[in-house]
Amino acid sequence: MSRTIAFIGLGHMGGPMAANLTEAGHRVLGHDLVPAAVTAAAGSGVRPAASATEAVAVADVVISMLPAGRHVLGLYEDVLTAARPGTLFVDCSTIDVADARTAHERALAAGMRALDAPVSGGVVGAEAATLTFMAGGGEVEFTEARPLLEAMGKKAVHCGGPGAGQAAKICNNMILGISMIAVSEAFVLGESLGLSHQALYDVASTASGQCWALSTNCPVPGPVPTSPANRDYRPGFAASLMAKDLGLAASAVRAGGVHADLGLRAAELYTAYAERVGDSEDFSGIVRAVRDQSEGS
Ligand code: NAD
Repeated sequence: MSRTIAFIGLGHMGGPMAANLTEAGHRVLGHDLVPAAVTAAAGSGVRPAASATEAVAVADVVISMLPAGRHVLGLYEDVLTAARPGTLFVDCSTIDVADARTAHERALAAGMRALDAPVSGGVVGAEAATLTFMAGGGEVEFTEARPLLEAMGKKAVHCGGPGAGQAAKICNNMILGISMIAVSEAFVLGESLGLSHQALYDVASTASGQCWALSTNCPVPGPVPTSPANRDYRPGFAASLMAKDLGLAASAVRAGGVHADLGLRAAELYTAYAERVGDSEDFSGIVRAVRDQSEGS
C-alpha cells in the first residue's frame, strides 16, 4: 500500500532512507533545516516541503531521523497539533530512552500514535536498505510501520513497549563499544608479547574471543581487508557516534542504578578519544589510543 510520508531530517542517514521509501513507491515529503540536504533528497524523488508542519499536515506517517532527543521533542512540539488525528509518528533517531518515552507520551496526548525505531547498520546500510530496526511501541503500530521499515532495511524487531527500541540500541552498542576496546587491548598486548596480528586473529576469530569487533571491524590492518583499519580508519561508524551512544548508555546505567563498570569506563574512553578525532575516524581507531598510551610505544 502506498503511503504519504513526512520525512524530517534528511542528513547522512535520513537522505538515503527517504530515497528508499520513494523507490518503494511511497509519496515522501521531506524537510531539513539545511537546504542542501533537501535539494540532495529531491534528486531521488523526495518532494521538498517548505516546513515540517506543512509535510506533517498531509501525512499518514511521520518519520524523523534527527541528531538527538532535544531535536525530536522540539519537532513534536512544533508539529503534533498540525497532524491529522491518529497519524503514526516513527522516530528513527538514536536518543535517550527517557526522551523516547516522553515523545510517545506527547504524541499520544495529542491524539497521535508513536513508535521508536532506531537503527543499526550505518550510512552504508541506509543507502543499501539493509538497516536493522529495533522498535518500541504497540503491536498494531509496529505492524503498520513494518512495510516501511522493511523498505529501508533488512530486518525489523519489535522489542517491546515505548522506549524499548532505544533500550535495545544502547545495550547493543554498549556491548560493541566494550568489545572493541577489549579487542584493541588484546592486539596491543599481543604486540608487546611479539605476537603477530594475523596469528592472534587466526586464533581468536575461531576461538572464544570471536566477536563482530574482531571478525568484521578488526581494529588492526591486514586480517580483515574490508575493515576501516585498512583505509587509515576512515569511518565506518565514527568515533563521535560511538561516544554519543555510550553516553546514552551511561546515563541509563546511572539512572537505573546498574552496576556496569565496563560500560561506564567505555563511555569515558570513547568520550576522550572522540574529543580528539570527532567524526573523522572510525571507532576502531581507539586501538591507536590504547597503543599511544602504552609504555614503550
Ligand atoms: P546528520 O547530522 O547527518 O543528520 C541529521 C539531520 O537532521 C541534519 O541534516 C540536520 O540539519 C537535520 N535537523 C536537525 N534538526 C532538525 C529539525 N528540527 N527539522 C529538520 N531537520 C533537522 O546525522 P545522521 O548521521 O543522519 O544521524 C541521524 C541519527 O541517526 C542520529 O540520531 C544518529 O545517532 C543515528 N545513527 C547514525 C548512524 C550513522 O552511521 N550516521 C548510524 C546509526 C544511527
